[in-house]
Amino acid sequence: MAFALNSYPVVFRAKYTNGTWKEEYLEKPHMKPEEEAALSGDELEKLGGSRNFFDDMPLVNYTTQYGLGCFEGLKAMPQRNGGLSLFRPDRNASRFYKSMKGLFMPPFPEDIFVRACAETVRRNAGLGFRPHYTTEWEKDSFMTADSVYVRPFTYAEGGIGVNTCREPWVVIICTPVSSYFSSGNFDAVVTDRIRATPRGTGWIKACSNYVIAALAKHEAAESGYMECVFLDAVHRKYVEEGSSCNIFFYLKSGELATPELGDTILPGITRASIIELARDKGIKVGERKIDIEEALGETRECFVSGTAAGATPIESLSHEGKKAVFNGGKTGEFTAYIRDTLKGIQYGTLPDTKGWMKSVT
Ligand SMILES: *Cc1c(COP(=O)(O)O)cnc(C)c1O
Repeated sequence: MAFALNSYPVVFRAKYTNGTWKEEYLEKPHMKPEEEAALSGDELEKLGGSRNFFDDMPLVNYTTQYGLGCFEGLKAMPQRNGGLSLFRPDRNASRFYKSMKGLFMPPFPEDIFVRACAETVRRNAGLGFRPHYTTEWEKDSFMTADSVYVRPFTYAEGGIGVNTCREPWVVIICTPVSSYFSSGNFDAVVTDRIRATPRGTGWIKACSNYVIAALAKHEAAESGYMECVFLDAVHRKYVEEGSSCNIFFYLKSGELATPELGDTILPGITRASIIELARDKGIKVGERKIDIEEALGETRECFVSGTAAGATPIESLSHEGKKAVFNGGKTGEFTAYIRDTLKGIQYGTLPDTKGWMKSVT
């Protein structure tokens, strides 16, 4: 699986006090990367794990007690030309700002967000903590490529009453990742759990949203599925999302359909990017309600999207005992086009005509 808890040593931290953000970079315990690579699994876990401890942050707070917090996830990809570039960090900055406002926290300025993400990746790379580009990755369209996963998140001040957070920390950590989904199983199942409700926090990348998602994904995995798909809370028939990714249906009609944004859908940056790439190719894109029956009956190809997932094909979708198999259970041509175009831009083998990549080293 993707997220080992061996994070890189340099951590960014900002604290909001008296109306201003005080920024710092912390260097946690580490050796040279090549020395760490020579450690035994246990030794590495001990050292890497120690970087996840901070003795000057409160244990009992609104985040640990009530899930009051939000986060972001973005990646820096090694470039064919040797550099390291973040994918659309300005978009994560803007979503993080909205998430914090939505949770009634003082929002983190977007310019600091972008600068701090880049600087954290850069400082870790400066210590040697970074993946290096290899042309091997081109052979399987970057399916096995490495990248740096950047995880900014909020952490509340100490407190035990149910309350909003007025003086949060913003922390940014980096961790190395390779491919997200274990290969071999691309089957999804509709869950009867409800991820998000109208007037709730589904549109926010809020910690609390992932409890239901984790339960549903666990249940799906127990039944042999890679992913679960949520339906809407009110009508119980419109497709919403995967456990932590958006979903697309390339229909027999030639339309690329994806659920319209609203207060129950997370506005994915990969989603927005895919919509743009599809429109550039002359594909009609419908951001609209998609009845589960339509999805099961009219879909040629299906895929989920997200920073971790990229564009990952869904080969079948099961619902109430019915199983719809898409494209004969193989990755479709359109899905492959989207996946490869996105990866090509991200790893620098295709021109970045949209200015999506921000070079950090
Ligand atoms: C993060 C996330 C996504 C994908 O967003 P990206 O910006 O593309 O990574 C989709 N759905 C949920 C619920 C998410 O948390």
